[in-house]
Amino acid sequence: MQRWVIGVDLGGTQIRALRTDLAGEKAARAEQLTQAQQGPQAVLSRILKTVREVMEGVPQEEIMGLGIGAPGPIDSAGVVHDPPNLPGWPGISLVEELSGPLGLPVYAGNDANLGALAEHRFGAGVGVEHLVYLTVGTGIGGGVISHGRMLTGWRGFAAEIGHQTLDPDGPLCGCGQPGHLEAFASGPAIARQARLALEQGRSSTIPEHAKGPVTAASVAAAAMAGDALAIELLRQAGTYLGLGLANVIHILEPQRILIGGGVSRAGELLLGPARAAVEQRLMSPVYRGIEILPAALGPDVGLMGAAALALQETLGAAT
Ligand SMILES: [Zn+2]
Repeated sequence: MQRWVIGVDLGGTQIRALRTDLAGEKAARAEQLTQAQQGPQAVLSRILKTVREVMEGVPQEEIMGLGIGAPGPIDSAGVVHDPPNLPGWPGISLVEELSGPLGLPVYAGNDANLGALAEHRFGAGVGVEHLVYLTVGTGIGGGVISHGRMLTGWRGFAAEIGHQTLDPDGPLCGCGQPGHLEAFASGPAIARQARLALEQGRSSTIPEHAKGPVTAASVAAAAMAGDALAIELLRQAGTYLGLGLANVIHILEPQRILIGGGVSRAGELLLGPARAAVEQRLMSPVYRGIEILPAALGPDVGLMGAAALALQETLGAAT
């Protein structure tokens, strides 16, 4: 009998669903706008509709389970706590709300944690049993694979690598605390630094690469074209990223660290300075040689991670 799993990525903008076989080969996908402002019940019924689209024509008994990833803190019961882009969600269990109507086992996790699982199963971390994944974009999310398993922590809230304090007097983070890694190296942080430098009269081609307000993408584009200020801004962000990664290395000692998310498209302009900062901060040479590489899966990483969670949980239960 053919067997399938379903992955769902509940984002602030879009709900996306994917059906894959046990090897991760994509068989069907569907998506809809989240429209979170309409409240949880409307969003839940859109999730069900999106999932039913990818289940169409497939006998129910062939589907082993469903994994769902959502942004922000989410516990293993699938209760989304204080999500930044989903107002009115606290207390609602995705596992309960979806498993009944679909008649499937449902597993939930934080989208960045699931990103680590996806890279481990399908991406640049295959065969690496100790892996750290960071997504650097609007925020900085993290996921940890330890001994081949996703590290969840006590309730599912582990691996918030972007919210480690690097400077107690630093700029405010998206979470409201000062000086977190995210406040130095996320896309909005890089864009803010760029606007500040331009306001101070620094000459740069960054505005010519912006289609509207200056963003991290326009900084990256200018840097790739050789703009000195843009290169300096990415070096700065990469250096803070490296400080954060040195902490991660001391605490977790992964074999490999993968950097994904929109800002990671700056490539070596970001990763080079990050590696240099790591080298400078290590407490001992024993930590040298830990690989810091680009992630492989791109925008589908959350979806693939949700499918990987369903695979891990259902195959694990079957053996
Ligand atoms: Zn924070």
